[in-house]
Amino acid sequence: MARSQRKIAIVGAGPAGMIAADHLSSGGHPVTVYERMPSIARKFLMAGRGGLNLTHSEDLPGFLSKYREARGFLAPLIGDFDPHALRDWCEGLGQSTFVGSSGRVFPASLKASPLVRALARRLVAQGVEIRTRCEWKGFDPAGNLLIKERDGGTSVQPADAVLLALGGASWSRLGSTGGWTGTLGGMGVSVKPFQPSNCGFRIAWSPHFAERFAGSPLKRIRITIGEKAVMGEATITASGIEGGAVYALSAELREAINSGGPAKVALDLRPDMTDDALAVRLSRPRGKQSASTFLKKTARLPAVVIALLREAGPLPSDPQELARLIKALPLTFQGTEPIDRAISSAGGISLDALDENLMLKSLPGVFAAGEMLDWEAPTGGYLLQATFATGIAAARGIERWLAEK
Ligand SMILES: Cc1cc2nc3c(=O)[nH]c(=O)nc-3n(C[C@H](O)[C@H](O)[C@H](O)COP(=O)(O)OP(=O)(O)OC[C@H]3O[C@@H](n4cnc5c(N)ncnc54)[C@H](O)[C@@H]3O)c2cc1C
Repeated sequence: MARSQRKIAIVGAGPAGMIAADHLSSGGHPVTVYERMPSIARKFLMAGRGGLNLTHSEDLPGFLSKYREARGFLAPLIGDFDPHALRDWCEGLGQSTFVGSSGRVFPASLKASPLVRALARRLVAQGVEIRTRCEWKGFDPAGNLLIKERDGGTSVQPADAVLLALGGASWSRLGSTGGWTGTLGGMGVSVKPFQPSNCGFRIAWSPHFAERFAGSPLKRIRITIGEKAVMGEATITASGIEGGAVYALSAELREAINSGGPAKVALDLRPDMTDDALAVRLSRPRGKQSASTFLKKTARLPAVVIALLREAGPLPSDPQELARLIKALPLTFQGTEPIDRAISSAGGISLDALDENLMLKSLPGVFAAGEMLDWEAPTGGYLLQATFATGIAAARGIERWLAEK
């Protein structure tokens, strides 16, 4: 492949920046990647510690519905680089994938590190220069990148096209701090404030409950807010609740809180049984058993669930009423846990600030991709799929822009 003379700068060595670097360098473009941290892809590597959901195997309409308001924006981009394309790309890097029983797609290694290593090797082989400990600080009046170098000095780097892939604003110690919002905002780019997504929520537990049950899992529960219900698992924390089922509702819960909150939630602690079936069991004679032992034996409730019921007040003596409480325990979510502890963030560059090539309308030649754009999605592979798809879309946009220039 003949090498182009057009220089491309990519800022941010997360999944969005790295896949774009791979695409562009494989097309013969000289690419330099600037990364502020001492090593690449720290958040992606952290995601890999929990099993790494790369994408999801559900049908495309169901898949796309997970992006809520951003569905229309992301649909063509994910259509162009869909879960199959992502799996093929991983395969091309020697990392096979498989579909788990939940429909989620995992790398065979269940980790991100083999994929990151293989990708880094290929980028170097394709001539990509990866410059770590180099922080983008903005542009000079001529549009050159201002890079804070390892030695603390600032260098001026020209580029024919720039891709910003700076990530969202959670887990800042991994590199994505959201610190760029002021820089881009000052250049006329519309940026929506960051908010926690896939995050924990605060609940005012009693001190005894918090101390005794922080870390306890709630398995197979259904959480309902308004019209939306999610089955899954959650974990009690000292200050509230977190886990898959809560994350899947985080946008709705956060919106309820933002619009004057708190968020009123109903917890079904025995979703596999009807109220009536549960009431029949609870009508059995209790004898000399304590209420806890009786609930444990007849309704098969673990200690954490019994304590959770007691948090709501004295247990009803009427079996029907008690069954209703177990099936719809009211809980009040008072606020989100801090954004730094969230898996991802909502907010970022407004989608209408971008053209169809993911170029910033107010900064010609500057493109953006990944979690720094204003979309959100639940965990389960939807975050990485959109991250990779927008990285590819921006890389293709850069190719078109350079071809037209
Ligand atoms: C604990 C955890 C588990 C997760 N698990 C999953 C999962 O299983 N499945 C899933 O789909 N998603 C998961 N995610 C989310 C996923 O990791 C992110 O959505 C994804 O990493 C976003 O990619 P990105 O390239 O947009 O940004 P990032 O991965 O955040 O990368 C941005 C990069 O830009 C660099 N940067 C920022 N500012 C500058 C600057 N000024 N100059 C130079 N460099 C800069 C940062 O250091 C960083 O390396 C998880 C996240 C966490 C925290």
